[in-house]
Amino acid sequence: MALFVLKFGGTSVGSVERIAAVADRIISMRSAGHDLVVVVSAMSGETNRLIALAEQIQSQPTPRELDVLVSTGEQVTMALLTMSLHKRGCSAKSLTGSQVQILTDAAHTRARIRQIDDKRIRAELANGSVVVVAGFQGVDEHGNITTLGRGGSDTSAVALAAALKADECQIYTDVKGVYTTDPRVVDDARLLRTITFEEMLELASLGAKVLQIRSVEFAGKYKVPLRVLSSFEDDPGTLISLEENREMEAPVIAGIAFTRDEAKVTVSGVPDVPGVAYKVLGAVGDAGIDVDVIVQNAAAGNSTDITFTVKRQDLEQAREIVEGVARTIGAAGVSVDKKIAKVSLVGVGMRSHAGIASLMFKTLAEEAINIQIITTSEIKISVVIDEKYLELAVRSLHAAFGLGEEALAASV
Ligand code: ASP
Ligand code: MG
Repeated sequence: MALFVLKFGGTSVGSVERIAAVADRIISMRSAGHDLVVVVSAMSGETNRLIALAEQIQSQPTPRELDVLVSTGEQVTMALLTMSLHKRGCSAKSLTGSQVQILTDAAHTRARIRQIDDKRIRAELANGSVVVVAGFQGVDEHGNITTLGRGGSDTSAVALAAALKADECQIYTDVKGVYTTDPRVVDDARLLRTITFEEMLELASLGAKVLQIRSVEFAGKYKVPLRVLSSFEDDPGTLISLEENREMEAPVIAGIAFTRDEAKVTVSGVPDVPGVAYKVLGAVGDAGIDVDVIVQNAAAGNSTDITFTVKRQDLEQAREIVEGVARTIGAAGVSVDKKIAKVSLVGVGMRSHAGIASLMFKTLAEEAINIQIITTSEIKISVVIDEKYLELAVRSLHAAFGLGEEALAASV
């Protein structure tokens, strides 16, 4: 018998029919003898609907009242699911974040969990009940309702699993799991059976929007095995866990992530003296703009170039700031490029395998795709290319590294 924390996202509880299907799934896990804590999201669209209602009244409601409002979405779902369980003869009880005592800081709309009291949940489990908990919400030390930021129910579930030392935290969603890359770009993308927390963080931050990133960080930190799976199918999905739990023959590359929402800024003819990188990038950082890739050339003569990427929406602001700095430091000029994309190969196996980068560059060369910037970390190699070649790059890399279904079938 195991203890599982299950989380059902908005589409999984989007109608009373869907809630009934979730109840059936819970009953069948229950009859296998498992203890279950079930975290629910608001029904799909509900959180947005509530925010829109607030906006009709006040353009900037206080964050405290906004939290009181949006936390109701999850409360509706938890009651409906508990009723569905009762109807099926299953003992169950719903609890809000404050009833559990999911204690957070006081940062309304983006609160962080500080501590979870497991007494109430443990008592209900000992009574033989399934415990249904409202996701996304907590309570601060003064009893104010708080919420954890959009998509926060994932984090609620992982935090509960950590506090209860659950055997596994299962996140039920509307996709089958984590894929080697976006199946909308590569038909042959393959569902991963296992992936490490580190790889998942790289893939998530690069745009694979399966889980709230914070929940993956949390799960990695507390070593909570995390499974992503579909509530619409019977499939074990993807297990996200520690490196030592990977399949023996796990491929060197786990997946390919990409983003199209960046832009590139180049400051050319920057005097090669101490402090210039700080002047350029410090000014950008001070404006609250996130910088992703940064490269500085080796100086030729007594000047150099600095190139960096920012979110496309921040480009104009970044350009203005950098043009100002360029004038004061006597740089030759500033140019920008909006039409770039970043493609990254991710895999913990890279640490122990040489030749990954050269196969990547060879593959891109064969497609005549020009690489503008290269950056690497221990488990990732990223290239910035012209946006118009993005899909071609992802497809050819996916094939070259044998990541697809067909390649796998051929190798066994
Ligand atoms: N209902 C919240 C949202 O839509 C939290 C969640 O679904 O995880 O962001
Ligand atoms: Mg969600």
